[in-house]
Amino acid sequence: MASGFLLPDPTDDDAAPFWAGTARGELLVQACARCGQRRLPPRPMCYACRSIEQRWERLSGRGSIWSFIVAHPPLLPAYQELAPYNVVTVVLEESPSLRLVGNLVARPDGPINEVDPKTIRIGEPVKIVFQKVEDIYMPRWMRA
Ligand SMILES: [Zn+2]
Repeated sequence: MASGFLLPDPTDDDAAPFWAGTARGELLVQACARCGQRRLPPRPMCYACRSIEQRWERLSGRGSIWSFIVAHPPLLPAYQELAPYNVVTVVLEESPSLRLVGNLVARPDGPINEVDPKTIRIGEPVKIVFQKVEDIYMPRWMRA
């Protein structure tokens, strides 16, 4: 049954390996096979050297909170039921130029509205977890 959440397409040509990784509990980022530049989100060409050769690299899933917001209504119905909830932007430890958006959760299977937004601090260390939503494993973050 559809959840009403706006979810990415796990079969997207560029991003399918990323979503296959999250389903295995791995954070993969695309990297240029010529110059090594990592990029997120995935795209067909390197913005540094324009090569279309690529590879996927597994990262640790550690990072820190770079910024966050607290979502309040009006929101789409599925999100409105959860509000207020946090949305965090995380700087990845191995590649500080890469930032991944997600939600801070208290438990690996915890809801996105469980952490009191007043307790969230910029710079807090976090680690990635993967939560199944319909047929996709969404990256979320827990305090490290
Ligand atoms: Zn390149």
